[in-house]
Amino acid sequence: MTATILDGAKVAADIRRETADAAAALASRGFVPGLSVIVAGDDPASQVYVRNKEKSAREAGIRAETLRFPATVTEAMLLAEIGRLNADEEVDAILVQLPLPGGIQSSRILEAIDPAKDVDGFHPVNAGRLVQGKRAPVPCTPAGIMELLRREDVPLRGVRAVVLGRSDIVGKPMATLLTKADATVTVAHSKTRDLPAICREADLLVAAIGRPAFVTAEFIRPGAVVVDVGINRIATAAEVARCFPGDEAKTEAFAAKGSLLVGDVHPADVKERASRYTPVPGGVGPLTIALLLSNTVDLCRARRRL
Ligand code: NDP
Repeated sequence: MTATILDGAKVAADIRRETADAAAALASRGFVPGLSVIVAGDDPASQVYVRNKEKSAREAGIRAETLRFPATVTEAMLLAEIGRLNADEEVDAILVQLPLPGGIQSSRILEAIDPAKDVDGFHPVNAGRLVQGKRAPVPCTPAGIMELLRREDVPLRGVRAVVLGRSDIVGKPMATLLTKADATVTVAHSKTRDLPAICREADLLVAAIGRPAFVTAEFIRPGAVVVDVGINRIATAAEVARCFPGDEAKTEAFAAKGSLLVGDVHPADVKERASRYTPVPGGVGPLTIALLLSNTVDLCRARRRL
């Protein structure tokens, strides 16, 4: 079987266009949606992510600012900043880029965000509201995947779904959303026995574990739909040969750059076994940013009762 791509990049571009239209409509009524991003420390990946988020937000007509703190920042300083943003009428959405520097308890910082401005939906109040099917900002990655599946007409009602990974950010909300969409959901994790066999039961397999090309052919039921959330950097020739066997373009790219990105799903195996799949890069990643923008506009509308 040769699988076709679920084009996350295209769907993300559509969502960004729609969000820009919605932001423009709000601006014409005098309300410019506002997003504040906090980043602390000098993790290079975080710096790239926040730059992209700010740039994308501006392009969508959102007033965006990035507040940068050194790695020596204290919990008290971050809490004070969040208190200020919570009280600022112009700020609709607050995002704290993870990971935070060592010594800072992320949960204390995230729980200080006003749930009405919690654009990532990580606050326990919003996580609880999501589980109970009440209106809440939904974590951007699983929300983006649901939007992709809906717009690409992937059936969910009654299907067997397996979510591999149970993090608060991806796995748990993903399982909640699929359950709400009437899929029959199994959540698998590092203690799951017979993992390949469990995953092979899935009509829809969502992999979010952070292990390069871990999901190989034996995990994938022929004809399954596979969503690959993982973003992993590989930096050895052996890993490149395992993940991209016989792929000269990738081998050359690795020689030039010294590393390559790969998802949690083996890129060659998924093409052989699945019916549809999300590529890495260009699958789930662009959707996460698109949903950050649309969540910001939604929070603006909800807070200002528009
Ligand atoms: P976490 O590290 O928070 O969670 C990983 C989960 O995977 C845990 O539940 C863990 O199980 C499980 N797991 C780890 N190893 C195995 C294994 N060998 N077998 C089975 N289960 C395993 O990761 P995140 O959920 O934050 O992220 C997952 C991946 O998705 C990462 O690659 C990350 O970079 C990527 N990501 C991509 C985004 C995007 O926009 N595309 C956004 C967010 C994340 P246990 O609970 O038992 O420890």
